[in-house]
Amino acid sequence: MVATTSVLGALVRSVAGGAVPVDTLVPVGSSPETYEPAPQDVVRLSHARLVVLNGAGLEVWLEKLLRAAASQQASILVLSDGIVVSPSSLPAAAGRSQSARAFLNPHLWLDPIYAQAYVRRIQTALVRQFPAQARVINQNTAAELARLQQLHRWIQAQIATVPPSKRAMLTFHDAWYYFDKRYGIRDLGAIESSPGKEPSAAEFAALVDRAKANHVRAIFAEPEFSRKLADQLAASAGTKTVIDLYDDSLGTEPGMDSYEGMMHHDVSAIVAGLKI
Ligand SMILES: [Zn+2]
Repeated sequence: MVATTSVLGALVRSVAGGAVPVDTLVPVGSSPETYEPAPQDVVRLSHARLVVLNGAGLEVWLEKLLRAAASQQASILVLSDGIVVSPSSLPAAAGRSQSARAFLNPHLWLDPIYAQAYVRRIQTALVRQFPAQARVINQNTAAELARLQQLHRWIQAQIATVPPSKRAMLTFHDAWYYFDKRYGIRDLGAIESSPGKEPSAAEFAALVDRAKANHVRAIFAEPEFSRKLADQLAASAGTKTVIDLYDDSLGTEPGMDSYEGMMHHDVSAIVAGLKI
């Protein structure tokens, strides 16, 4: 099996266990939104029986790669397909520069409830592909769903320790949109309105105004991107930067090689950042 990103690969591994090997394409520490495929990716895909991707515009480079791999027997599982985003989590116009993109915002996996839906879709696809392993796949799925439920309750308890007036996130890119909706955090938008697109001077000034008006406690960013803009925004708005959020990629530190480990780290960093 091949998963496009390390985070999706971790979810697939949690369901597959040791039953089926899982390879990933985008290396840890790289962005799937600006990824440039390597020649060996074609080889990886040509050997795959199941290719697991997020969809919703995350892996724009994959289609060409799949054509190049020309794998006849590979099934394709698009995890975001069939996930119904409830109307209340679609964007309100306020505070968001490009609300239309939210319909295509691919970062569903950062909401553990949507991650549960991903896990169920992975289970169905794996059982279909590897029916002889169905028992272990189903056991693994039940264990992973329980871990995600536990994670969800832990996050709720963590966010509850942040005073409601401080629950607002301004981020480098728009990864935390669904997470914010799930846990009652105001999403104040992102420095990059779409991947790789730096803000104009006017857009940057608007971000500074928004950060000040909402008394933003910290600007949140990821280690795979340059911290320059986040630092500039924080300095202009008189706030701090938290630059070690992992969202599109797992981390290399101990304990960061699973979805739950990544989320524990991130939520701890978010809560600490919001309480500043
Ligand atoms: Zn992203």
